[in-house]
Order: sequence, then structure tokens, then C-alpha cells
Amino acid sequence: MRTIKQTKEIAVVGSYDVVVCGGGPAGVFAALAAAEVGAKVALVEQYGFLGGMATAGLVMPLSVFTYNNEQVIGGLPWRFIKRLEAMGGAHIETPLGNVAFDPELYKLCMQQMVLEAGIELYMHSYLSGVEMNGTRVEAVIIENKNGSEALEAKIFVDCTGDADLAYMAGVEMQPQNGEPLQPLSTYFILGGVDTASPLVNEAMHHNKQGVNCHCLPMREYLLENAAKLNIPEFGGPWFCTTLHEGCVAVNMTRTAGNACDNRDFTAAECRLREDVFRMAQILRENFKEFEKCYVAAVAPHAGIRETRRIKGAHTMTAEEYVSGYRYEDSISRGAHPIDIHATKGNNQNVTFLEQAAYVPYRALFTPSHPNILVAGRALSADRKAFASMRVQASCMGTGQAAGVAAALCAKENSSTDSVNINRLIEILRNLGAAI
Ligand SMILES: Cc1cc2nc3c(=O)[nH]c(=O)nc-3n(C[C@H](O)[C@H](O)[C@H](O)COP(=O)(O)OP(=O)(O)OC[C@H]3O[C@@H](n4cnc5c(N)ncnc54)[C@H](O)[C@@H]3O)c2cc1C
Repeated sequence: MRTIKQTKEIAVVGSYDVVVCGGGPAGVFAALAAAEVGAKVALVEQYGFLGGMATAGLVMPLSVFTYNNEQVIGGLPWRFIKRLEAMGGAHIETPLGNVAFDPELYKLCMQQMVLEAGIELYMHSYLSGVEMNGTRVEAVIIENKNGSEALEAKIFVDCTGDADLAYMAGVEMQPQNGEPLQPLSTYFILGGVDTASPLVNEAMHHNKQGVNCHCLPMREYLLENAAKLNIPEFGGPWFCTTLHEGCVAVNMTRTAGNACDNRDFTAAECRLREDVFRMAQILRENFKEFEKCYVAAVAPHAGIRETRRIKGAHTMTAEEYVSGYRYEDSISRGAHPIDIHATKGNNQNVTFLEQAAYVPYRALFTPSHPNILVAGRALSADRKAFASMRVQASCMGTGQAAGVAAALCAKENSSTDSVNINRLIEILRNLGAAI
């Protein structure tokens, strides 16, 4: 392939203790936690709003903050949920601890918390590169309407979901090429739905422990009539209340694809947008509860379940995870079932947990790169443990832990592998983390 060489001078526009890349569930709580511990923090986000998959992907509900009514994710993420609830933007389902939300109030609430914490926010800014000194990151390069800009920091927290920063810095990744990835799905919001009907009302509240929350009667009908109705590949369907009468968020489309390959992802995004409107038509023509429905919103970004993760100092295994193994460096929890959607077809493999799991700090860094931490979807876990940890409350929990660790490392000028674990755990407990 023909290549072009470019060299350019890039202005360093900010110098921080901690730079967090990615303003999704993990990144926002990494930034808030680092600021809470006194660090000077910048947060970089490609969109003009925060929330990641919750808002750009319209992925709902937020799963899960409790296990059998026991709080498993506390601290700053829970403070956010209670504040969103007080704004009229969250509905906490019990006993499961799923949270349904209004995506627009979610964006507003998160933005308020970030700005009140004094975090410098770089929105509309795409992380495009890293400036390295050996295996140490000196600065990240971002692209926005001002051009290319560099942000320096002592510690960088990668919360891009796809481990973009770590990947660019040369951190070893998993899974390796060729291993299966869970499918992509574009969420959409339907208006004009009979949300008071028993079928929809039951399906849009995810409040029961130990059951799959898909709408079983609709699934059975759709599977039976898949060929006759020419239904594209689908999952669920799952519905979730957006807290507004007549509206539901729908998780139903799906296609195979690799979101870290631009051509593959572009093609998938286009297929999924076609499928959204086809699904809405199928629902309208086959279910009386949906006969007046219309597509009120399509998620700006296709939903990504799985891409690459780092190979960290420790890779959490499914065995550790389901046995509730409590590591010496446990910094967060997970309570969602192990939830693996087949790459192709309608199937899903769900293993319900018998207890909430623990997450070790060592899943958030690799000793090879002394000033990078990773939180959220890109942490170091095998495919099964990951399939539980990928949900949003769990990502918020690891974000919170990474933020505190980053602030400590910055304060002590230490590398990520020599953080004072006892101090880290003490601060997290004081914040309210249930560890
Ligand atoms: C179809 C589907 C259904 C799901 N169902 C549920 C569910 O029911 N409950 C649940 O809790 N979770 C669910 N999830 C999982 C959950 O939404 C994600 O795993 C979770 O949001 C991951 O959080 P994160 O912060 O790691 O990453 P993300 O939410 O992906 O956030 C990453 C952020 O980084 C930004 N970013 C990425 N790259 C760059 C870059 N290079 N430069 C600048 N910014 C960048 C993105 O814009 C985004 O804001 C589902 C996911 C999908 C796809």
C-alpha cells in the first residue's frame, strides 16, 4: 500500500495529573474519582455529550447495582444514580438493581457532576495518538476543530471501551485475531407504543433476579414466523422504559462485525440502520400494542458488546468470577449474569451468578506500561468473565477504582504496579465502594 509521511508540531495545551480518555460509564467515574482525591484531571470525549453506550448507544437499563438487594456498586456511581433519580431521570428497579433512565437527563446530570468537580472537559475531541518515551506515555494527541492538540499527564486512564490508548501505546491485547466477538446491535426508541398494556409493561421493567428479561411471547412469535415475515437477524427482543408514556427503548437488531475495523463497522452501522426501520415495521404490523409506533430515535452509535481488551497483570477468569473469589486487591464488583450473545443468529448463552463477583486491581494495568490504567469494557478478563463485567454499573465501578489509583500514583509519582493497595482500598471504601 502506498503511504504518506507527515510531520507536524503539536501544541501542548494542557498538563495534568490524570488524563482520562473516553467519557462513558467508566471514564466519567474515573475522572470524578481522580478529582475527588485531589488530582488535576482532563476528560476527553469524541461526542458533544457524556455517557458512552448509555447515551450514544441508548443502551438501557444500567445493570446492575445490587445483587439480591445487597449493594455491590456504591460510591460515586450510586451518587450519580440518586441525583439522576431526584431529577426525575432514573427509575431504580428492585430487587435486581437495574436502572432505567431518560438519556437526555442522564447527559445533563453527568455533565453537571463533571463540571462541578473542576474537571477540564475536551468534548468533540478524538484521541488519535500517543507520544511515548519508551513504554511511558508522555502525552495523548487529540483532534478537534482547533486542530491537533497534545495533553500531558502523569497517569493516563483508558476508558475508550476499545482500549484505543493502550493499543496505540503497544499494550498486548486479547482476544487475538480470529476469536469470535459478540454481535453489534443498534438500539432505537419507539414512540406511540401502548406502554400500559400488560405485554409491554411487563417487558420494559427489568426487576426480577435470575430470569432473562426478554419478551418471551414476542420472541416465540418472531422465531416461528421468521421466514414468513422476512425478519432480519434479531435478539431478544428486550424493551426498556425511557420513563415516558408511549416510549420504549428496543434492543432487537444484531449483526456480526468488528467495531475496531472501520470498514467492517461502517458496513455494520448501515445494515443496522436499515434493520431498525424493518423491525419497527414488523412490530407495527404484528403486535397490537405497537400498531401506532414510530421510530422516535436511532442510537447515534451502533452498540458494541465486545472488541479488544488489554492483557493485564492478571486476567480474571470465569472460574474466579463465578466462585466469588475475593482477591487481596479487590477494588470493585460485578453481579450481572455471564451473558454471551452468539456472533451470528438469535441465540444467547446466559449463566446466572450465585453470588456477586470481585475484580482485582491487577486487571486494570500491565506492568509493561507504567503510567496507563484501563477501566470499563477493556479490562483484563477472559471471554466469560468479561461477558458479565461489560455492563455499565460494573464499568462505573472499575472506572471509580482506576480514578482513585491514578490520583494516588500521580501524587506519589509511582507506577501503576506499585500503588499502595491498602490506601487504594481504604479510599474506595470511604467513597462507598462495596468491596
Ligand atoms: C446491545 C447491547 C446491549 C447491552 N445491554 C446492557 C444492559 O442491559 N445493561 C448494561 O448495563 N449494559 C449493557 N451493555 C453493555 C454496556 O453498554 C457497555 O459495555 C458499557 O457501556 C461499556 O462502558 P465503557 O465506559 O467501558 O465504554 P463505552 O460505554 O463504550 O464508553 C466509551 C466512551 O469513549 C468514547 N471514545 C471511544 N473511543 C474514543 C476516542 N478514540 N477518542 C475519544 N473518545 C472515544 C466513546 O464515545 C464513549 O463515550 C450492552 C451493550 C450493547 C452493545
